[in-house]
Amino acid sequence: MLTADGFDALREGGLEARYAIGNGLIGVRGARAATRGTRWLAPPRTYVAGLFDTSGAPSAPGEEPVSAGLVPAADWLHVRVLLDGHTLLRHPAEASGHRMTLDMQGGALFSRFRHEHRSIDGGDRLVLLVRTVRLASMADRAIGLQVIEVEVRSGNAEIEFEASFESVELGLIPDRLSNTLGEWRTHTGGHRLAIATSARLAIDAGSQPPFRSGVLRNTWRWTCRAGQKICFERMVAVVRSDVPEGDPGKTATDRLAIAAGLGTAGVMAAHRAAWAARWQCSDVEVGGDPAAQQALRFAIYHLDSAANPHDEHVSIGARALTGDGYRGHVFWDTEIYLLPFYSMTWPEAARAMLMYRYRTLDGARAKAAGMGWKGALYAWESADSGHEATPRRAVAADHTIIDILCGEQEQHISADVAYAVWQYWQATGDEAFLLEAGAEILLETARFWSSRARLEADGCSHIRGVIGPDEYHEHVDDSAFTNVMARWNIGTGIAVAALLRERWPARWASLSAKLGLAQEELAGWAGTVATIVTGLDRATGLYEQFARYNRLERIDLAEYAGRSVAMDVILGRDRIDQSQVVKQADIVALLGLLPGEFAGATGLANFRFYEPRCSHGSSLSRAMHGFVAARLGLTDLALRYFREMADIDLGDAQVGGDGGVHIAALGGLWLTAVFGFAGLSLTEDGVALDPQLPPDWTSLAFCVQWHGRVLRIRIGAADGGVDVTMRGSVCMGLRFGGTAHVLQPGQTMHFDGGTPAAGSVAGRAVSRSAGSAP
Ligand code: BGC
Ligand code: BGC
Repeated sequence: MLTADGFDALREGGLEARYAIGNGLIGVRGARAATRGTRWLAPPRTYVAGLFDTSGAPSAPGEEPVSAGLVPAADWLHVRVLLDGHTLLRHPAEASGHRMTLDMQGGALFSRFRHEHRSIDGGDRLVLLVRTVRLASMADRAIGLQVIEVEVRSGNAEIEFEASFESVELGLIPDRLSNTLGEWRTHTGGHRLAIATSARLAIDAGSQPPFRSGVLRNTWRWTCRAGQKICFERMVAVVRSDVPEGDPGKTATDRLAIAAGLGTAGVMAAHRAAWAARWQCSDVEVGGDPAAQQALRFAIYHLDSAANPHDEHVSIGARALTGDGYRGHVFWDTEIYLLPFYSMTWPEAARAMLMYRYRTLDGARAKAAGMGWKGALYAWESADSGHEATPRRAVAADHTIIDILCGEQEQHISADVAYAVWQYWQATGDEAFLLEAGAEILLETARFWSSRARLEADGCSHIRGVIGPDEYHEHVDDSAFTNVMARWNIGTGIAVAALLRERWPARWASLSAKLGLAQEELAGWAGTVATIVTGLDRATGLYEQFARYNRLERIDLAEYAGRSVAMDVILGRDRIDQSQVVKQADIVALLGLLPGEFAGATGLANFRFYEPRCSHGSSLSRAMHGFVAARLGLTDLALRYFREMADIDLGDAQVGGDGGVHIAALGGLWLTAVFGFAGLSLTEDGVALDPQLPPDWTSLAFCVQWHGRVLRIRIGAADGGVDVTMRGSVCMGLRFGGTAHVLQPGQTMHFDGGTPAAGSVAGRAVSRSAGSAP
């Protein structure tokens, strides 16, 4: 549970994001419904995944193309209450005893407050106790539910209770609006939205007919008296359609009828059961550190709220469905910071997100072709079509207008998508996905890199003019992150071609024919792998972040400790470009993703070199540093990053977050705990564990899935050891602290010895029968 009391105008925006509810189709910010009053600050927001539109204005000839952004749907939670003709509240701060409670376990937002009102006839003071709850159903993603209960403690008054939709005409073109159904379409892109609704108000369990009804609006009026209990219930069914045919209005109406058949209690019960199932798969339990425990549950709550395994046309934006930030766009955040969580705990959701990349592959091919390259170059910022959605210009911190080059130059995105495809394949062994979609993504991205890297007179292949993860340096040559990931991507393309040829020759024949991929081209790829520049200095084991980086000005970031603004604002864009100040994990991210590219102790050496140069100008940065530090055994430092990551959306010291939760940083919390402290990694035949818990953490327990099997891992069992239990039908490999074991179905394997904090647990495996599972 998370709770917030009262009202603080300066923190409300961040709170609305933190207290958002969602189910991957619908996302609703935690804006107050009953207590917004007439003088509210920001409009409430309900988002529908995939509902993208270009800014609404048709672009005139010669006008800059406007990129697609998520358009909010009408606010279906709006209520207005009048007491004796006067509005209940003018301002949210007037609600007394207001408390908001996010039930992360059950996926619901509760609120309560008390209201006192002197009636006009001078009678008793009217005292109302109000409780509300809202949810976006995890059992049937179309369904949203709102319940408001009012208890009249004393007094009496004329009440008018109006429940309506707000912003009905905002952003979308209304096609048909009636009392129980709204249908809209986007200006461009051909999306349609239908919301069917039903609302009911009961006084002391007796249903009341509305006194007045209108478009998506019902009003009730009655005289309330002490002792009355009023219950208002509203359900909606939300349907997005991306095709001209079909009748989303009818689908929404049908879905609503099914939910209405279950009734409010039935909808709630199904929703709670679906959430319980999610927690069963994804919960991470931490012993000895309640703050870390809460941060992890908060992260998992938002991660589970953000995904929809049934929709292959959408993925998760940088702020999920919790705010307007980055206009709903999908970045590398999803593949690198979120996919590990989904691939390991919710493979169906991971698959849907990767299928989104498959469905946007044509957009990526068009982008590569448009820039003169082959294969697929994914959009740096992706919306519904896969065409580049990065804005071309933006207002900088110094109020000047600057060009944004990421859309053209931040090309590592293609390797990041490929990386997630491969990781998902390794984690799940999902052959159907590999054959239908994954292999094609791997081959087309490999093809892009091979055409992108140019063999030059020095006998080496170079990739010039890119932006790496560190966006403070634009138009750089041979970004080590980009080139090494590109090399990995090409190598994996070659490997997947060989795998298909050997195991699924018919599929290889059809796919290679479709892509026009001949043997000579694959040989060319091998040439690129052999010649691409990586920036690795063999003498020191350090990667140079990009060509000439080492010659740039060294700035001591310690001198800027305590600053509250980003380093690029302090130094200015020109100076930062000429300095070694890094925006975010770059070489450190490479170390996180491809640790095998760092021999022996060079991983630590690179971390030690780049960490002091990093200014953490992005919320992604601490996530990667925490995960990598944990992997390197720097547990205290990793824990510090973990806490800073958690503070991004949970801390109160800094205000912000109006734009939505930083879902990548939340993914980073899981990554740091599971891939970092528990040292989980994927191997050829199973998983490996190499736990190094922070001293404060007495235990760490979680579940992951591997090739259809479920593993329950508990580090810090009674004797400080580790228990691993597997549910499945076939054995699998488990490496523990470097030693290979075979894990049998139903078996609990116990590794004892050593305190986890002192380093890797020396593994002596003792098997137990299934009965002793933790
Ligand atoms: C981000 C870029 C993004 C740009 C435009 C910048 O703040 O760092 O990744 O492409 O905004 O949205
Ligand atoms: C970061 C990018 C990130 C984007 C969206 C930017 O500030 O530099 O790496 O993808 O935000 O979160």
